[in-house]
Amino acid sequence: MSQDSDSELTSNLHEEAREWLRLNWRDDLTVGAWWKLLAAAGFAFPTWPAGMGGRGLRRKEARRITEEITRAGALGPPGGVGQMVGGPILIEYGSDEQRRRWLPALAAGAESWCQLFSEPGAGSDLASLQLRADWDGRRWLLNGQKLWSREAEGADRGLALARTDSAVPKRRGISYFVVDLDQPGVEVRPIRQMNGRASFNEVFLTDVAVPPDQLVGGLAQGWPMALASVSYEREEVGGGGVLRPARIASPGRRNGMLDRGIRELAEESRSAERERPVVRGVRTPPALIALARQVGRSDDPVVRQRLAAVHGTYETNRLRNMLLRSARRQGRKPGPEVSLGKLAGSEVGRQARDISLSLLGAEALLTGEETTGGGAFQQMALSVQALSIAGGTDEIQRNLIGERVLGLPREPETDRDVPFNQLRVGTQRE
Ligand SMILES: Cc1cc2nc3c(=O)[nH]c(=O)nc-3n(C[C@H](O)[C@H](O)[C@H](O)COP(=O)(O)OP(=O)(O)OC[C@H]3O[C@@H](n4cnc5c(N)ncnc54)[C@H](O)[C@@H]3O)c2cc1C
Repeated sequence: MSQDSDSELTSNLHEEAREWLRLNWRDDLTVGAWWKLLAAAGFAFPTWPAGMGGRGLRRKEARRITEEITRAGALGPPGGVGQMVGGPILIEYGSDEQRRRWLPALAAGAESWCQLFSEPGAGSDLASLQLRADWDGRRWLLNGQKLWSREAEGADRGLALARTDSAVPKRRGISYFVVDLDQPGVEVRPIRQMNGRASFNEVFLTDVAVPPDQLVGGLAQGWPMALASVSYEREEVGGGGVLRPARIASPGRRNGMLDRGIRELAEESRSAERERPVVRGVRTPPALIALARQVGRSDDPVVRQRLAAVHGTYETNRLRNMLLRSARRQGRKPGPEVSLGKLAGSEVGRQARDISLSLLGAEALLTGEETTGGGAFQQMALSVQALSIAGGTDEIQRNLIGERVLGLPREPETDRDVPFNQLRVGTQRE
């Protein structure tokens, strides 16, 4: 495409999206009705295929639509594991039939999916997973346990990695399934964390049936798809829209938000923020600077040094993310460099925790609305650990950066060619 026709398409997209939003965006709609409209116009996920919530646009063109949604102050498209990971995986590896079947429902927010990857014996070493998928002549039967599954409690389906062949080396016997979770044999148990919330679950699967057409990407082809999924998860994906969906509404009928009014949900979310004004962006330097002023320490030279250091890490990461997003708009897939952003994010979190607790002094031991900052910093201190574990630990990110960004020698691996059933991993240790 010539540069002229490229910029013509871009400016047409701006105009079309602006006009469409002028005619269609209203905050008195329900969340479900708005998401349906966005998907039908191809504006939900513009890079997805036409007729399936998108328009088959390139990323840099899709960006124009996101900008207009943001400019209009509209609710962005649905966000969740299905939309951020499932959609791209189906587009890259799924069959036409699978794309036709699931992409429209994901684009319209009608379904919520979760990721069933980690297990008690398989986190960093994900390829040692033991969830079994056995073929009974008609369908796959899944047996085993998953762990740390976010959003599983309200999910309609899960993206599951399961072992279909134990007689080959660990990475070669893994298959990738879309599993219906609303069926007998699926038990979801929430896990309570030290911050008091229950954000993830254990999922037990006993003879859970998966029809053959819900195997994605071919038998035993799951490992590269697992790596691609984890990259999509690590990448920061801008949802678009001023009212970020993740903050105000979750997709899927089981999460109960599709029939709620957008205005009402946005108001609830704003008043939650008003009550705890520092919660928004609590990990970011402005919130820490505000706290330093509030407790009268903003002229303390040591505090200023620490604030400048966290600002430096935060800004470097923000600029690096802009570069990454620009590369994505040029059509590049997320590479190992996403690990740099993931690592910097958890570093900023830790610095923010340490600075805020030291500024709060003895108050750091308290909790509740009446404390400085409404208890938000104490909550953050109890939650921030998750950043250095979720989506791959800091140590694993450093390994990836060492090997794939800096070109250092690979970690020694003695089990690469050993059949999985001969490895002493998970329950095979006994
Ligand atoms: C907030 C959150 C959300 C999550 N969401 C999901 C989800 O939705 N779905 C899902 O499937 N999973 C999810 N997880 C699980 C997450 O992916 C795993 O916890 C993570 O991969 C680490 O695995 P593990 O807990 O088994 O720790 P382990 O792998 O047992 O690691 C223990 C320690 O050993 C270190 N270590 C391990 N191997 C190496 C190595 N080769 N080199 C150096 N150090 C090493 C680790 O860094 C860590 O410090 C989530 C986790 C969190 C905290």
